[in-house]
Amino acid sequence: MDHFQYKAGKLLCEQVSVQELADTYGTPLYVYSAATLVHHLRQIQLAFKEVDPLICYSVKTNGNLSILQLMREHGAGFDVTSNGELHRALTVGSSGEKIVFAGVGKTEAEQRRALSEKVFLFNVESEAELLALAQVAKTMGVIAPVALRVNPDLPPKTHAKTDTSVKGVKFGLDIHSVLEVAQKFVKQSNLEICGIHMHLGSPILSVEPYRQGIAKAKTLVAELRKQGHPIKVLNMGGGFGIHYRKKEALPAQAFAEVIVPAVKEMGCKLVLEPGRFIAGNAGVLLGKVIYTKESGGKLFVIQDAAMNDLIRPTLYDSFHRIWPVEPPKGFEVPPEDYECPGEGTLSVDVVGPVCESGDFLAKQRHLPPLNQGDLLAVFSAGAYGMAMSSNYNSRPRAAEIMVSGTTHRVIRRRETCDDLIANEVEYIAK
Ligand SMILES: *Cc1c(COP(=O)(O)O)cnc(C)c1O
Repeated sequence: MDHFQYKAGKLLCEQVSVQELADTYGTPLYVYSAATLVHHLRQIQLAFKEVDPLICYSVKTNGNLSILQLMREHGAGFDVTSNGELHRALTVGSSGEKIVFAGVGKTEAEQRRALSEKVFLFNVESEAELLALAQVAKTMGVIAPVALRVNPDLPPKTHAKTDTSVKGVKFGLDIHSVLEVAQKFVKQSNLEICGIHMHLGSPILSVEPYRQGIAKAKTLVAELRKQGHPIKVLNMGGGFGIHYRKKEALPAQAFAEVIVPAVKEMGCKLVLEPGRFIAGNAGVLLGKVIYTKESGGKLFVIQDAAMNDLIRPTLYDSFHRIWPVEPPKGFEVPPEDYECPGEGTLSVDVVGPVCESGDFLAKQRHLPPLNQGDLLAVFSAGAYGMAMSSNYNSRPRAAEIMVSGTTHRVIRRRETCDDLIANEVEYIAK
C-alpha cells in the first residue's frame, strides 16, 4: 500500500497536490510519503514481532538524512556499506549497537571507525577481511562481532546485476569453504564469530529463495557451533520485493512465515536489512515534458528527468509505472495492466535530455497524448533512485520533498551550477 492516489483528476501524495509541489520546487523532483515509509517499516515490525528482530534499514537504498531520522524515530537500526553511510546513520543519532556493516571491501579506516562506534555486527565476506579485522581489533584492544556472510549458491532469482547469491558473484564466502575458513578462527581472541549473514538478492517476489537459504543456514549454524563458535545471530539481509508493474509484491507476513519458525528453532537473534520494501513505493520522480518528437517511426517524449536522476531502467531494464500527474479526460486512472494498451493511448519512449541512447525511463510505453509542460510521475522511485543519481552531463541533482499529511518540506535542496563546480574552482590555473 502507498499514499499516492489520483483524486478528482490529479495525483496526490497523502493530502498534497503533486502538481503544486512541482510548480513550487521545479522538476525533476523526488517526492516521498512519510506515512508510506513508516507503514512499510511497521509491516515488517509487525510480521516479525514474535522474534523481536533488529530491523536495520538499508542506508544505500535511500540515505537522505530525513528518511533515516524517520526510520530511527520508529525504531529501526541501520545497515551500512561504507564509512559514508555509517556517517549518515550516526548523524541522525543512531547508536552503534543498532548498526550492521556489510560490504566486500571494508578498509582498515572503516573497520576502525565501526569498531570505535561499537557496531552490532560486521558482515564479513572473506578470509582476508577476517584477518584484517582481527588485526585492527587487536590494536584497539577490542573484540569484533562477526557474522560470516555466506553465498548459499542458489538458483538465479532476479536481474543478474542484483542477484547476490548465485555462484560466481563477488559476495560472501563460498558456502563450500565457510567451515574451513571458520575453523581457522576458532582461537582468534579478537573476533567473535557469532552469526551467519545471507543477503539473497533483490527484488525477490517469492519466499522460495528464503526457504532454500535458511535450510542451508541451519546446517551451517549447527556445524559452526560444533566448531565452538557461539552462533546467536541470523541475518537474512533484505531483498523483499515491491510493486513495480502491478500488485506483484508479497506481504511481509509471507516472508515471516518462512523465516520466523527457523529463527526460533535455531535460537538466534534475527537481523533484517530491508531497503526497497520500505522506500521503493514511498517515492515518485516527477519530470516535465520539454518536447515530443517523431523519429524513425517512433514517438519520443522528452522530459527533464533523466538517467542521471533514475538509472534503474537503463542499468537493470527495470520497469517503472509512469502516468501524467493531471491526466487528460478519459485517462483519469492509470491502467491496471501496463502491457495492455488502453484505447487512445500512444506508444512512446519516455526519455531524458542526457546524451546517451541509454537515457530512457520507459520504452514503447502506452501513454495518453502528451503536450509540452505536462508533468509525468515515475512511480516506485523511492529506492535506488536519488541514491544512485549522478551529475552526468553536469546536471545538478534533483530536490527532494517529504510529504506528511497536508504538510511538506524540502529534505534536500536542488543543486545549483555552482555546486557542480565547487570542488574545482580553486584549482583553475590562473
Ligand atoms: C542492498 C542490500 C540490502 C537491501 O536490499 P533491499 O532489496 O533494498 O531490501 C540489504 N543488505 C545488503 C547486504 C545489501 O547489500
